[in-house]
Amino acid sequence: MSGNQSRAEAVHQITNREPVNVTKTEYLGDIWASDVFNLKRMEWALSKKAYKAVKNTIETGEPLDIATADVVAAAMKEWAISKGAKFFSHIFYPLTNVTAEKHDGFIVTDSSGNAITEFSGSLLIKGEPDGSSFPNGSIRMTNAARGYTAWDPTSPAYIMETPNGATLTIPSVFMSWTGESLDKKIPLLRSNKAMNKAAQKVLKLMGETDIAPLNSSCGAEQEYFLVDANFANSRPDLLLTGRTLFGAPSAKGQEFDDHYFGAIPERVQVFMQDFEDKLYKLGIPAKTHHNEVAPGQFEIAPYFESANIASDHQQLLMTQLKKAAKKHGFICLLHEKPFAGINGSGKHVNWSVGNSTQGNLLDPGSTPHDNLNFLLFCGAVIRGVHIHGPLLRAVVATAGNDHRLGANEAPPAILSVYLGDQLEKVYADIQEGKLTASAAGGLTKLGLSQILDFERDPGDRNRTSPFAFTGNRFEFRAVGSAQSVSGPLVAMNTILADSLEWIAEKLQAELSSGKEKAAAVISVLQTLMKEHGNAVFGGDGYSSEWHIKAVTERGLKNIPTTADALPALLGDSVKKLFETTGVLSPVELESRYEVYSEQYILSIQVEAKLMVEMAKTLIYPAASHYMTGLADANASMASMDIELDSSVAKTVATETNAMMTAVTKLNAALKKEDFASTEEHMKYFATEILSLMNEVRIHADLLEGEVADELWPLPKYREMLFIK
Ligand code: ADP
Ligand code: MG
Repeated sequence: MSGNQSRAEAVHQITNREPVNVTKTEYLGDIWASDVFNLKRMEWALSKKAYKAVKNTIETGEPLDIATADVVAAAMKEWAISKGAKFFSHIFYPLTNVTAEKHDGFIVTDSSGNAITEFSGSLLIKGEPDGSSFPNGSIRMTNAARGYTAWDPTSPAYIMETPNGATLTIPSVFMSWTGESLDKKIPLLRSNKAMNKAAQKVLKLMGETDIAPLNSSCGAEQEYFLVDANFANSRPDLLLTGRTLFGAPSAKGQEFDDHYFGAIPERVQVFMQDFEDKLYKLGIPAKTHHNEVAPGQFEIAPYFESANIASDHQQLLMTQLKKAAKKHGFICLLHEKPFAGINGSGKHVNWSVGNSTQGNLLDPGSTPHDNLNFLLFCGAVIRGVHIHGPLLRAVVATAGNDHRLGANEAPPAILSVYLGDQLEKVYADIQEGKLTASAAGGLTKLGLSQILDFERDPGDRNRTSPFAFTGNRFEFRAVGSAQSVSGPLVAMNTILADSLEWIAEKLQAELSSGKEKAAAVISVLQTLMKEHGNAVFGGDGYSSEWHIKAVTERGLKNIPTTADALPALLGDSVKKLFETTGVLSPVELESRYEVYSEQYILSIQVEAKLMVEMAKTLIYPAASHYMTGLADANASMASMDIELDSSVAKTVATETNAMMTAVTKLNAALKKEDFASTEEHMKYFATEILSLMNEVRIHADLLEGEVADELWPLPKYREMLFIK
C-alpha cells in the first residue's frame, strides 16, 4: 500500500470504527483488590501464627522463616488456582525501566504420571531466571551469570489476568549470584532502611520516646498520549522509538489551551473506566484522571502509598495502560516527547516520609513541637537537594527526558527547591538569625505561629520548579513519563538519610552543650541554611535570568543532557553518599552508570538508524514522486506557452537534496566506533548525532509542507493529535 493509501485507510478505519465492547463498569466494593493476595486475604487463609509472622515481616522487614513461607505458599497457591491460575511468576524490576517475569507452572507429575500441583515456600521465596540477558553493567564479570529473584513479602502478590488465563504474580527483588543488586527494588528497600535509621536518631534527640518505623510514601502522576492505532501502525518511528522522528507542526496545536481539563472524549473515557477497573482489581487506588495540556494527552494519578508498593504499582500501571489502550484501538505513548512543538509528558513524583506515631514529618502540623520536627526534616531535604542536585539530575537522565527538561514546558535542568512564600520566609529568617529561641527560650516565643497557620494548599503553586514543597510533601517534577519512579525515590530517601545523619550529629552537639531543644534546632538550621540556602528558589524557573543567576550567583549546576548528567554517578560525593548509607556499593553504582549510559547511546542509535531508513525509503520517494509530477505539469504548461511558477519545484528539489546530504552525513557519523570512554561516547551522541538528526528533520518537515498531501507517506500531526 502506498503511503497515501495507508493514511487514507487509517482515516477510513477510524471513521467506521465500532465501539469496543465493554461491560458496564463494576461496583467498586466488589472489585477492589479482588485480584490481590493482601493481608486481609492472608488473615482469612492463614493460621493465626503464620499470619502474625507475615504481618511482622511486612511491618518490620525482618526475614520470614521457611516454615511460615511454606504455609503462605500453600495458601497463595490455593487462592490463585481458585482464580483460574495455572502458572506463577516472579516479577522483577531490572535496570531497564520495564518489568521482567518468568513463568512456571504449578503442575508437576507424580511417578504414575498423574498431574498434581506444587508450590512450596522455597519456590515462593526464590526463583532463578537466567540473569545473563539483563543489563547489569560489569557485575556479570564473575563466571556465574545466574541471577536470582527473591520474593518481597512487603509487596503483595496478585493475579495477572489475560482473556483466557491467569498467572499468580509475585513481586521480587533481582540480584546476582554474588548478592549484588541488579534491580531497582533492592536499593529502594535499602534507602528506606537508611532513612528510617537516621530519622529515628533525630526524633530521639527531639525527645520522642515512641517511634514506629518510618517509611517513605509516593504518589505518582502519570502523563501519557493516546494515538489511534491505525495511525500509529503507519508510523515506524512511533512503533520503534515511541516518538515521532519526523512531523511538521499542525496548524492548530495547543495554543488555544482548549484541551487542558476539557471534556474527555467519550472513546477515551470508556478506555479510562475499563483500565481503572483493572487497576482497582489489582489494588491500585486510581484517584484522578483528566486531559492534559497537549491535544491527545492525559493524566492518571493514583492515591499515594508506601514507596515500595507505589513503585511496583506504578510499573504495573504502565503495563496496564499500554494493554488497555491496545484493547481500545489506541497506542499509549509513555515517551517524554512524542511530538515536537507541543508539551511532552512527565511523571510528578510526590514524596513524603512518616510513621504511625509521629505522622507525616513533612507536614508542618499544628503544634510548635510538630513544627520543629517539620523544620528539621524539610531542612534536611533542602540540604540534600543542594549538595546532591547533580545526583537528582542524573536519576532523571534519559534520552527521552532530555527533550523535555529545560524546554519551557518542564522544569529546568537546574535543581532548586521551591518552598512557597511563607515557608521561604521562615527559613530566610532562620538563616539571617531573625528567628531565635535564645531570648527567653520556650517554644511559644519562637514566632513559629508563621507556620502554625501554614496554608496547606497554597494557591501560588510554582509549576516551574523541579522540586517543590506542596503543603505536606515534596513533588519531584523532573521525572520522565516512561521512567520507573524507583531511581528518584532512592535518591530522595538517601539524600534525606544523609542529611538527617548530619542533623543528628549537630543537634547532639548543641544539646550536649546545654542548649534548650528549640534553640538547638534553630541553631542547627541556621548553619544548614547558611551553607545550603542557595538551593531555595521561588521565582520563575523557566526564565533566562534564572538560568544565568542560578549558575553564576547561586553556584548551582545547569546540566542539560544525559551525557553531562550521568557521570555524576561516578563522582566521589555520590559514591560516598551511597556507600555510607548502605544503599549501593561502589560496584553496584558503577554498574548502574554503565547500564544507563549504554541505554542512552542505544536509544539514540536506534532513532538515528530508523531516521536514515525512513528518510530514504519513505520521504525521499514521496518527494521525488512529487517532483516528477511537477516536472510533468511544467512541461505541459510550457507546451501551452505558459510559464509556471517554479518556486515549489525549486523548494522541493533543494530541501530533498539538503535532507539527503544530511542523511548521508548522519549515516557516516553512526559508523564511528573508537571512543576513549563511555562518557566521550555519550557526548558524541548528545552533540554530533543529535544535531545531524535535527538537520535531517528540519528539511523533511519542510518537505511535508510542500509535497502533495496525497503522496505524503506518514500520518500527520493534525491527524494523530486530533482524530479520536
Ligand atoms: P496535582 O495538583 O499536583 O496535579 P494530584 O492530586 O493530581 O496533584 O496528585 C497529587 C499526588 O500526590 C497524588 O498521587 C496524591 O495521592 C499524592 N500525595 C498527596 N499527599 C501525599 C503525601 N503526603 N505524600 C506523598 N504523596 C502524596
Ligand atoms: Mg503535580
